[in-house]
Amino acid sequence: MRVDGTHAIGVDLGGTKILAGVVNRDGSVVRRHERATPQDTQEHVIAELEAAVDALLDDTVAAIGFGAPSPIDQRRGVVVQCVNVPLVDAPLRDHMQDRFALPVGLENDANAAAIGEWRAGVGRGVDYIVMLTLGTGVGGGVISAGRPFRGANGAGVELGHVVIVHDGRPCQGSCTGRGHLEPYVTGLAAGIEAREAFGPAADAHRLVRLADEGDPKAREILAGIGRYLGSGMGSFTNIFGPELMVIGGGFGVAAWDYLMPTAIEIMRREALEPMRDTVRVERAELGTAAGFIGAAFVAFEALDLSALDV
Ligand SMILES: [Zn+2]
Repeated sequence: MRVDGTHAIGVDLGGTKILAGVVNRDGSVVRRHERATPQDTQEHVIAELEAAVDALLDDTVAAIGFGAPSPIDQRRGVVVQCVNVPLVDAPLRDHMQDRFALPVGLENDANAAAIGEWRAGVGRGVDYIVMLTLGTGVGGGVISAGRPFRGANGAGVELGHVVIVHDGRPCQGSCTGRGHLEPYVTGLAAGIEAREAFGPAADAHRLVRLADEGDPKAREILAGIGRYLGSGMGSFTNIFGPELMVIGGGFGVAAWDYLMPTAIEIMRREALEPMRDTVRVERAELGTAAGFIGAAFVAFEALDLSALDV
């Protein structure tokens, strides 16, 4: 068994990018690596996850953690089904432990981001946190009573897949639901609205850039997305009673200035006292690094558990 344990590799599998880093126990990032997420096959996705680890691995690394955009079956170490990535029923924990001969932790990507912000970001020292990551999809992570809240089999929480509009828009990817929060507030959803308004070449990045330049139509679209987001934020405030609501993810961070005025207005309309008045809303401090930093903390957790087994 390795006894060094100074560093862990955290890997965040996103809909378009794999973000990875070597992380200290205090959450500081030593090195990072980025590569594209394959869209074709499961084998290709797993090969690219391995390549991301290989690019960072050295003798100081004692454990590896993966965040995936999927419910995780923690008992079996299985990625159940990614909504926006071709990865289904994948026994990633055993596979990666065999491949790298190190303890491996698995976590839902948004839980990982929430853990990252809680341990090393804007949520340091806060025991009740709801985090929403707005990227290709919507992830949710909850810290409750100073612990990650994962539900009975480790698969919770899927805050992007709560219904905010009965019988509304079809959800994204492999989700068969309707009217879920996700198809209203993602970068993908913003891209669809951007193309309708500005033509086929527009996407979410362009939409935010236009808003930065003062374009009223772009700002109006983002404010509209913020209203849907606020419905979700108000409901989550009522359910979890958080001290802190953190908004992260690539789209959430980039579009923060334009989403938040309407999102907070609607959130305060829907949430009940006393939560309504006490919940703070903050932008993710670690930006898009929250996911891999949190995955590294999950790796340290796996390392510490494996040390107890020896
Ligand atoms: Zn859904």
